[in-house]
Amino acid sequence: PVVLGIESSCDETGAGLVRDGRLLGQALASSMAEHTRFGGVVPEIAARAHVHALNPVVRGALDEAGLRAADIGAVAVTCGPGLSGALQVGLAGAKSLAYALGVPLYGVHHLAGHVAADTLAHGPLPDPCVVLIVSGGHTSLLLVRDLARDRIVHLGDTLDDAAGECFDKVARVFGLPYPGGPAIDRTARAGDPCAVPFPRPLTTGPPAMRFAFSFSGLKTAAARWAERHRAAGRPLPVADGAAALQEAVADVLTRKAVAACTEHGVRTLVVVGGVAANSRVRALAQQRCAAAGLTLRVPPPRLCTDNGAMIAAVGDLLVRSGAAPAPLDVSVDPSAPLEYAALHPVGRG
Ligand code: ATP
Ligand code: MG
Ligand code: FE
Repeated sequence: PVVLGIESSCDETGAGLVRDGRLLGQALASSMAEHTRFGGVVPEIAARAHVHALNPVVRGALDEAGLRAADIGAVAVTCGPGLSGALQVGLAGAKSLAYALGVPLYGVHHLAGHVAADTLAHGPLPDPCVVLIVSGGHTSLLLVRDLARDRIVHLGDTLDDAAGECFDKVARVFGLPYPGGPAIDRTARAGDPCAVPFPRPLTTGPPAMRFAFSFSGLKTAAARWAERHRAAGRPLPVADGAAALQEAVADVLTRKAVAACTEHGVRTLVVVGGVAANSRVRALAQQRCAAAGLTLRVPPPRLCTDNGAMIAAVGDLLVRSGAAPAPLDVSVDPSAPLEYAALHPVGRG
C-alpha cells in the first residue's frame, strides 16, 4: 500500500508518501521564521503553525506523487518524542485521515524515522549496522539488526547536551543567527579548524564511556573562549571558532562511531539526524570509514533534518513486517525514551 507519513514533533510540518521502500512524494513547511526572534522554538507557536500547515503539506505530497487521498493505504504519524502540542496536531490529523479513509494507523517514534530516512536514499539497512543518531535532541549509537521488529541494541548516548544542541547554543554565544547548526557550518568554511584547541570529551577515559558522549563541556569551552576575546576587547574570530568547534564535534562523533563498528565487527555505519547534514561530519565520517574499510551511509541533507518522508518510511517498514496498527485512541508520548521506543514504534499493539 501507499503509506502517508506525517511529522509534527517540532517546528517542521512534514508529509511524505512511500510505497515498498520508494519515496513517491513529499512536502514540508516550517515555522522556523516565526521562532527566530525568540532564539528557539516556541511550543505554542509551533503547534498553531502545524494546524495551518498540515492539510497543505499532505496535499503537496499527494500532488508531487500524482496521487489522490483515496490512494492512501495506511497512515503513519510521529507520536513522540517531541513537543506535546505540536505532536497532538499531527496525531489528530493522522487519526482523522485514517478514520475517514478506513485505513490502518501506525504510531512512529521520531528517531526510528530519522534512521529509516536513509532507506529512502540507499535501500534496506544491512543486518547488522551501526547507526549514529545526531540531532537537536539526541546523540546515540545503536547496533541495529531489524528496525521494524525492534531488534536494536543501544550502545551509548550523550550524558548531557546533544550535538545539535551544542551547535545551536554556541552559535548563539558567537552571535550567529538561529538555527545555529547550519550557521556554524556556513561560517566554518572561512575558518581554521586548528585555530582553537577545543577538548574532545570522553575520548580518553574509562572503557565504560567509550560509546558515551558529552557536549556541555565543549559548549562551555567555546563560551569561555568567546568571553576571553570580549574581555580583552578583541574582535571575535567567529569563523575560526565555528571551524574549531565543528572539528571537535565531528572528530568525537566519527571516532566513536567507527570504534563501535570495529568492536562489533560491523561493516556499515549509518549516520542520521539533523547534524548528519553537517558538511564536516559527512566528510570526516567518509574519510574515517574509508580508512577502516567500512561502508558509510548518510542520507542527503534534506532527509537528515525533520521531514514527513522518514515517518512514511517507518510506516512502510511496519506494514511490510506485519506489525499491528495502533488503536485510534493512541496518544502522544512527548518524552518517548529511546530505550523502549526508538525502535519500538509508539502505540503499537
Ligand atoms: P530530535 O530529532 O532529537 O528530536 P530535532 O528533531 O529538533 O531533534 P533534527 O531536525 O533532527 O532535530 O535536527 C535539527 C538539529 O540539526 C539542530 O540542532 C540543527 O542546528 C542541526 N543541524 C541542521 N543542519 C546542520 C548542519 N548543516 N550542521 C550542523 N548542525 C545542523
Ligand atoms: Mg526543526
Ligand atoms: Fe528530529
